[in-house]
Amino acid sequence: MSEINEKRKVAIVTGAGQGLGLEIAKKFLSEEMKVVFVDVNQQLLNEVKNSADLQPYLSNSKFLQVDVSDVAAIKHSVNEILREWFRIDILVNNAGVRKETSIEDMTEEEWNKILSVNLGGTFFYSQAVLATMKSQKSGRIINISSYGGQAGPLSSGAHYCASKAGQLVLTKTFARSLASQGITVNAVAPAAIETPEMKNIDTNKLAKMKDSIPVQRFGREEEVAGIVSYLASDAAGYITGSTFDINGGLLMR
Ligand code: ADP
Repeated sequence: MSEINEKRKVAIVTGAGQGLGLEIAKKFLSEEMKVVFVDVNQQLLNEVKNSADLQPYLSNSKFLQVDVSDVAAIKHSVNEILREWFRIDILVNNAGVRKETSIEDMTEEEWNKILSVNLGGTFFYSQAVLATMKSQKSGRIINISSYGGQAGPLSSGAHYCASKAGQLVLTKTFARSLASQGITVNAVAPAAIETPEMKNIDTNKLAKMKDSIPVQRFGREEEVAGIVSYLASDAAGYITGSTFDINGGLLMR
């Protein structure tokens, strides 16, 4: 491995098997980082690993199947990363699950599942990288929250909204605790980002949704990845405990 390669930053992106996490992971690779793609879904990880886009970057990529609601698995993954790459500069907590469930129909199992993946995963992955970031005296943690955690739209499910709101306050508690040690912790809160699944939504419903967004269009994954990339950069060292809204003006505050 070349000396230049050794100096690359190491970034972990959870839920990097598809969608926003994948977009963020690819952006980091294009910025000359080493990237750990974490996902519970091995098939998605295989597809990413075999995709044409990734071929030039395979020596800087690592693919780990981890369920972020399993604390032992998180710790194991961190040890594995350190054994080979020796450092962890950036953690993006993006893995998540969402389900539209009414308050009446919520089961204990469903509640616990969403809270343990979205909120527990964020807490325990962040906890697991702390010792390393503290010893480096530098680090960036970026939590992918949601407009759901700010406005509580019924369509997102109370459990999902509570988990996303929880991420916003975790962002502040971690930021406060780590600010003097060169580690920043921030969140982004996207809304109405264009995804392939939108193809399955009724066109009238989509048009109505679009109409409710002040900028009159859906957001793009690369628009979220751009802010995550900025927050991960050295230039963002004076920003911590903040939430960046990326919602086309849906929520102005
Ligand atoms: P979005 O792109 O909007 O963030 P997706 O559902 O497309 O949402 O992506 C979420 C990713 O998180 C998926 O790749 C999914 O496999 C992953 N994921 C879901 N649950 C877990 C989990 N428990 N541990 C790790 N990754 C998970």
